[in-house]
Amino acid sequence: MRAASHHHHYHYTLVGAGASGLWLALALLDEGLLEKHSMCIAEADSRKGNDRTWCYWGRESLFSGAVPEDSWSHFLQPADDTTAEAIAPYRYFHLRSSDFYAYAKNKLSRSPNVHFVHTSVSDIAEKGDSLQITSDRGTWSSTYAFVSAMPGGLASWKGAVGAFLQNRRARDSTMLWQSFVGWRVRSTKPVFKKERATLMHFDVAQQASTQFIYELPFSENEALVELTRFGREKLNEEEALPLLEEYMSELTDDYVISEWEIGQIPMTSALDMRQKRLRRDARLIFIGTPGGAVKPTTGYAFKRMEQYARRLAKAIKKGQRLPSMYRPWRFRMYDALLLHILANHAQRGREVFLRLFATQPMARILKFLDEETTVFEEILIFSRLPKRLFLRSLTHYLRRA
Ligand SMILES: Cc1cc2nc3c(=O)[nH]c(=O)nc-3n(C[C@H](O)[C@H](O)[C@H](O)COP(=O)(O)OP(=O)(O)OC[C@H]3O[C@@H](n4cnc5c(N)ncnc54)[C@H](O)[C@@H]3O)c2cc1C
Repeated sequence: MRAASHHHHYHYTLVGAGASGLWLALALLDEGLLEKHSMCIAEADSRKGNDRTWCYWGRESLFSGAVPEDSWSHFLQPADDTTAEAIAPYRYFHLRSSDFYAYAKNKLSRSPNVHFVHTSVSDIAEKGDSLQITSDRGTWSSTYAFVSAMPGGLASWKGAVGAFLQNRRARDSTMLWQSFVGWRVRSTKPVFKKERATLMHFDVAQQASTQFIYELPFSENEALVELTRFGREKLNEEEALPLLEEYMSELTDDYVISEWEIGQIPMTSALDMRQKRLRRDARLIFIGTPGGAVKPTTGYAFKRMEQYARRLAKAIKKGQRLPSMYRPWRFRMYDALLLHILANHAQRGREVFLRLFATQPMARILKFLDEETTVFEEILIFSRLPKRLFLRSLTHYLRRA
């Protein structure tokens, strides 16, 4: 590990070694782009470890055994809370971030052209044909910068603000949070049903937002149990504790908490990209959350970041114009409609999700959330949802457009 020196030039700089940064680094490596070119990975957090867990669904694992994962083939049906429904052809996977970081760093550290630097980047500015990167450990220049650091710190990043605002939905968009407080619990008695995950259990107080319990059983005695909220106000521990305790008390009183998971994910259309490609001369490229990786209505981003990293690395290799994390307009609109409902008719969120699960096969819902459904399948989905509610939301959406 070395500090960046004043006159140093890297071909690629990654600002942030989280999910999107490491996925991109791996994709550049896989495409052979690090054989000739150097890369600096700047990460501000020197103690980055198991700071979260990730779930995603897919026909197969993204790691084929190289990272420890748990997986499930069934979901509990939220509409009746007793039936386990198959999600074939998908499986639902879970991994720890620390295992992913270790896997990625291990692969990357074999390349002599990759340099990890613990530093907080404070500015990125264009200077001639390259970018000037300023950090608390020095300055360097770079041909490309891929940035997953969230705006916030960005206000002071004079050079980056323009690139960030370009291509985004400038109109005011709904801003909600997916916030969660959860426990990894171990019980003395076998109380969990290991074969099925619970995506949404709605039998909890809604507290003027949409709330549900999420449960991932790792064995009959161990599970991750999380209270999740979609709402304007973030969930706090004080509110979550009694609801988690109540959920657990229905299963058992004899359990210990081994880990906590607390987090927030922005749910907003404000980060949506409106064009499929970035500017021809784009050098400063937002990836991950600020690049629009998070699906506004679900908070899922992990698999999308992996897919985008591959597309980006392929385009770089071929010298093509770089893709953005653009999503087809229909799916951006569906997300905006649901976000509007969750924000303005919070008391009906539960009903919308329960209707969705009661009327659609799980696999179709997952395909829809992957944005791979056909218009025909989308009609099947929306025709069973509360019509007047969605029409009102659509009217609002069209007036804004
Ligand atoms: C607790 C939690 C659980 C989640 N679970 C799931 C899930 O199950 N499935 C799913 O698909 N998505 C999930 N998400 C959403 C999303 O996948 C994650 O937030 C993911 O980590 C986003 O990747 P990223 O690269 O955008 O950001 P991060 O992974 O947060 O990486 C950004 C990195 O940039 C660093 N950084 C910030 N500022 C600077 C700076 N100025 N200089 C240098 N470095 C800097 C940060 O320290 C951080 O390491 C979850 C999010 C959270 C918060």
